[in-house]
Amino acid sequence: KKITIAIDGFSSTGKSTLAKQLAKELEYVYVDTGAMYRAVAYFAMQHEFIGADFFDKAALIESLPKIQLEFRYNADLGFAEMYLNGENVEKPIRTIEVSSFVSKVAEVSEVRTKLVEQQQEMGTNKAIVMDGRDIGTVVFPNAELKIFMTASAETRAQRRFYELQQKGDNVSYEDVLKNVVERDYIDTHREDSPLIIADDAIEIDNSYLSREEQFAAVLELIND
Ligand code: C5P
Repeated sequence: KKITIAIDGFSSTGKSTLAKQLAKELEYVYVDTGAMYRAVAYFAMQHEFIGADFFDKAALIESLPKIQLEFRYNADLGFAEMYLNGENVEKPIRTIEVSSFVSKVAEVSEVRTKLVEQQQEMGTNKAIVMDGRDIGTVVFPNAELKIFMTASAETRAQRRFYELQQKGDNVSYEDVLKNVVERDYIDTHREDSPLIIADDAIEIDNSYLSREEQFAAVLELIND
């Protein structure tokens, strides 16, 4: 039986790693909703709607119809990549700069409405694993399996720091930790769809779990 799997949780808890593993194993479609918010933030940055000390929300809202988001499957990588108005933006949307603006952009109700609609269209009646912050609560409240992932901020920052270093991104651990804590704060305090655990979600704290242990635990849940 094909089901909808919703994976939510805090920043850098390894949601996408788990989601990709599941999609591969089960032959499901994987949708990274964070990439969509990141692409909108990147657009806002490019058009100078947002910067270190300014955010012209009205200009962004007005431009929303001009933002076209699309996932295109990359067979070599084994997952889909994010395209913004026809351009592959996988790399630029993962920078610390975009990370520092994305939660502010994700607070805007008009942005959320547009992306949630698109996510529901992509996932309805499909074998899908979708990760984000509001998948089990807003996008697919009827998902058959909901996972909520947590880990200490330090564990998450350490992992993200290592990842960015591998990519050659010259950023300090302190800045990564600061970003993780800031995003947690904004994500849990915003008015529209704050990050909360769904009543029927299963919480996994992976501070001390390896990828393999976590994957095995979730597969067991699916087979139950
Ligand atoms: O998952 P990722 O860390 O790439 O998401 C980036 C940001 O996008 C999050 O910190 C959050 O502010 C926002 N987001 C959201 N709702 C989602 C997915 C991401 O608000 N469903």
